Amino acid sequence: MDSQIRKIHHQLVNKEITCTDLVQERLDALKQNTNNTVNSLLDTSALDLAAKVDAKIANGDSIGLLEGIPFGIKDVYMVQGTYTTASSDLLKNYKSAYTATAIRKLLDAGAIPLVKENCDSFGHGSSSENTIFGAVKNAVNSNLVAGGSSGGSAVNVAKDYTVFSVGGDTGGSVRQPAGYNNVYGLKPTYGRISRFGLMAYASSTDCVGPIAKSIEDIRIVLNVMSGKDGKDQTTYASAEIPQNGILTSEDIKTVGYFKNFIETDAIDSQIKSDFLAAIEKIKAKGIQVKALDFFESETLVSTYYTLAMAETASNLSRLDGTNYGNRIEGDNLKDTYAVTRSENFSEETKRRIVGGNQLLSQGFSDEIYLKGLKLRDQISENFENDFKEVDIIISPVTPNTPPKIGESLKDPLAMYLSDAYTVGFSLGQLPTLTVPKGTATGLQITAAKNNDELVLKFANFLKDTI
Ligand code: GLN
Repeated sequence: MDSQIRKIHHQLVNKEITCTDLVQERLDALKQNTNNTVNSLLDTSALDLAAKVDAKIANGDSIGLLEGIPFGIKDVYMVQGTYTTASSDLLKNYKSAYTATAIRKLLDAGAIPLVKENCDSFGHGSSSENTIFGAVKNAVNSNLVAGGSSGGSAVNVAKDYTVFSVGGDTGGSVRQPAGYNNVYGLKPTYGRISRFGLMAYASSTDCVGPIAKSIEDIRIVLNVMSGKDGKDQTTYASAEIPQNGILTSEDIKTVGYFKNFIETDAIDSQIKSDFLAAIEKIKAKGIQVKALDFFESETLVSTYYTLAMAETASNLSRLDGTNYGNRIEGDNLKDTYAVTRSENFSEETKRRIVGGNQLLSQGFSDEIYLKGLKLRDQISENFENDFKEVDIIISPVTPNTPPKIGESLKDPLAMYLSDAYTVGFSLGQLPTLTVPKGTATGLQITAAKNNDELVLKFANFLKDTI
């Protein structure tokens, strides 16, 4: 698919459509949708902004590429004055006091936010069923889950309710729902986009990630959101990725894949054979393909969940009903904290808080948490060595196709294992993109740190190859 952003931009500039009609149409579609993608609609502000764009065009003023383009925001981003619930009871009535940097940049470029999107509460989940707003239904088959945690965002893009959406990816939450709903989803290099104003899940892997229907739209939105930010000390300055720069792929000579991701009983047989067929097509184009050794999936998943649970237990400790959230009064302060948190957090979130606090506690932290940190270093080292040998690593996005709604809730461990192919790249803080090609849940393209451009180049190459 070609760039939706460019197409709509031309239609606006050539007065083929008005921004007000465009926004109204998408708002109506969001309002009527039965996939449960909406936590709150930003209809009044969206229509105000659209009227301003129309007035500019009528005046003969020029407009920027993103001006008037409707987009969605996962409900974990602060947007001043809007409800920011993280799909939780605790923050059901919380309104943001400020706006996240990534969103601020999009607003400054003139893009119009339509909706705060349904997701797994605090990013905890792989199915978008851990939400007080009802499970998000898959865009292709509504009996299946949308994937998670950015399920609402991926479905809104797949259904054309938004032109693009801003998801958040800690361990796969942009890439996996993108794969489940047949759209593109990028997790950029950690630190390329500011996390300021993104509700923290696991701060050492949290990334802001765009979801869209074309590589060009991913590129445009990525460029606007990227950049060093004084409010997030982990950000770095990155060069803009030029439009023409990603159209050729001569510098990609070698591609690797992890043998053990494929040679396992845990992978769906069709995904496996489709992946191997994709590898053959890449080889046929003269690219060398290497099978690489990597950590066992169980090691990746347990390392990720150890660190993610520890970080989320720490990050969510501020949510006690004092400064934020629905306070439930107990007999004394301690009771108030306890009852507020136990009544307002979901089962899955509590599992992670309890697990995280346990593994950070005395007697456990050396054995478990510090071991997790060591393993993470080894995983990063492994990637560094791999990228001396190959330019790109390619993998399936998920071992299996999306489960039916209700199934994942029965077995949290099975749900954690479904993240086997995404979490390793998060621990390595690498740029990685889901393309809706190759297997039923897409392919994942990964490059070395700060090589986001190469990822987009290879995605363009695959578009013509598979
Ligand atoms: N499914 C993974 C988890 O629950 C990843 C979620 C995410 O990236 N926010 O931790």
